[in-house]
Order: sequence, then structure tokens, then C-alpha cells
Amino acid sequence: MTPDVRPLVAGNWKMNGTRECLTEIKAMAEGVQGALSEKVETLICPPATLIYVATALATDSPLQIGGQDCHQKASGAHTGDISAEMIADCFGTYVIVGHSERRTDHGETDHIVRDKAAAAHDAGLTAIVCIGETADQRDAYETLDVLKRQIFGSLPPGATAENTVIAYEPVWAIGTGLTPTATDIAVAHSFMRAELVEFFGDEGRRMRILYGGSVKPANAAELMAIDNVDGALIGGASLKAKDFLAIYGVYEGLTA
Ligand code: PEP
Repeated sequence: MTPDVRPLVAGNWKMNGTRECLTEIKAMAEGVQGALSEKVETLICPPATLIYVATALATDSPLQIGGQDCHQKASGAHTGDISAEMIADCFGTYVIVGHSERRTDHGETDHIVRDKAAAAHDAGLTAIVCIGETADQRDAYETLDVLKRQIFGSLPPGATAENTVIAYEPVWAIGTGLTPTATDIAVAHSFMRAELVEFFGDEGRRMRILYGGSVKPANAAELMAIDNVDGALIGGASLKAKDFLAIYGVYEGLTA
């Protein structure tokens, strides 16, 4: 954790979830009420088809709703895409950009990710910018070089601690049950912190850096306690309210 920074526990539902899963959103919206929600922010990014109804369900809750991606333009001839403005219009407050599945499946480069983050800012959304090394890059000891390149390539100049969150997600840890060691995560996060401070000054000191990749109720307490880990981006374990709330709940102990 970073002193004086409010952690964010965020869920990415990916291409999972139909209307029947809204019962999970409802349970999450109810489960995050209470004193802990003042210390820890929560967010679920369901598929675009559920954003509007999810925000309606979470109206009286601190649970925030966001998108999983946005186009870099505000509108236009881009069949199948949605804009940041459309997410904001559905009362979403965040959008994930540059997830490794977008980078791989859709060929998104750092440049595109940076434009998407800028579009999110223009629409008043907070961008969660995902970065992380592949297994090959890790094995070649290139992790820190990759992180540096992705931070500077994917963050727009207008990034601040309020409108931008970094999510460090080693690609090989996503959906595999594997995680880096606590020491490796600490090294990566402290490196990213130093780079952010060098580039963004005080904003970089306060910018949240999430860890993502196989975060589960069983490992969350250990992972979230690491220096400069300011929350989690959770895939599989965010689909069920019970697991998501258990991960959020580890902050009872960490913030006591
Ligand atoms: C993710 O997709 O952002 C992710 C971290 O997935 P999982 O938690 O399932 O590894």
C-alpha cells in the first residue's frame, strides 16, 4: 500500500455476464456499504451491454461501474466500438484501456492505448491503463524495460492521480493461477513508482498502481500488503460477489 492513497479494488468481467448476473452486481453493491468503503474504492467493469443497468442497480452504493475498453474517438464510423462518452452517458466512471487481451486480440499498441486514455479523460472518466510483460520478456529479464516503455508510451501527458490508474498485470499471470513472488511484485511496483514520480512529479507519487493477475481471496491479503500495491484488478474472482467481497474485505485488516 502507498501511504495516504485510497486503494481501488476493481473487477473486470471480460466477455462474461448476461442479465441474470446482475444479482451479483446487486450483492456487491450491498456488500460494499459501510465504513470500509470510505477507505477503499470499489469498481466493476461488466460487458458494455450491462453498464447502464448496473449503474442503476448501484445508484445508492459506493460501488462504481466502468467499461472494459473505449474507442479513441468520441463518435464516428467505427462499427462495434463504444466511446468513452457513451460509458459516461451510462453513468460509468472508469474505463480499462490497454488490457493485454486487447493488445493481443486487437493489435492495440501503446500509441492507441495512450489515445484511448486521453479520450477517457476528455469524457471525464478515470482510465485504468494496463501494462505488463509476457512470459518471454520475463524470462529474458526485460520486465522493467517493458514496464518503462509501456508507462511512457501508454500514458497521455494530461495524466493525473485523479484521472489515471496503472494496472500492472504480468501477461503470464492472467487467468493462469500463477503470480509473481511478493518480492518480484515489490520490485516492479517500486520501479513503476519511481518512474511515475520522475515523469509526473507529485501526481506520480499519488497515482494508484494496481496489481492484477490471478488475485483470489486466498492470496489477496499478502498481495495487497505489498508496498506500492494500491489495490487489485481482478478477472475471474470478480464474477462472484462472494469472492469479490472477500478480496475487498482483506482491507479490514490492512487499514485497521
Ligand atoms: C484480468 O483479466 O485483468 C485478470 C487479472 O484476470 P484474472 O484475475 O482472472 O487473472
